[in-house]
Amino acid sequence: MLDVGTVYLVAAGALLLAALAVGLRALVGVFREGRERSRKRREGELERYTMDPVYDREPPDSDGVAETPSTCPQCGADNDAEFTFCRECAAPLGPDP
Ligand SMILES: [Zn+2]
Repeated sequence: MLDVGTVYLVAAGALLLAALAVGLRALVGVFREGRERSRKRREGELERYTMDPVYDREPPDSDGVAETPSTCPQCGADNDAEFTFCRECAAPLGPDP
């Protein structure tokens, strides 16, 4: 005579195995897809990540505008130049308006 605990264990085990099988199939599918894509990219069949010429431009703040990182007067933390408040202590940065 099977008791409830054994039945529960068997049912839970079966469900776990089924879930594992489904997950494994999905993982194998993803893995195969990735290998196929990297092989195609190596052989030049696939396009680059982007063909957008905008993507190859320099960052906009590299054209001579000297943006010196501002140091917090309160805690001395280094903040980006465009920051208005300190990222560490939220003290106002730069000249007061
Ligand atoms: Zn600060």
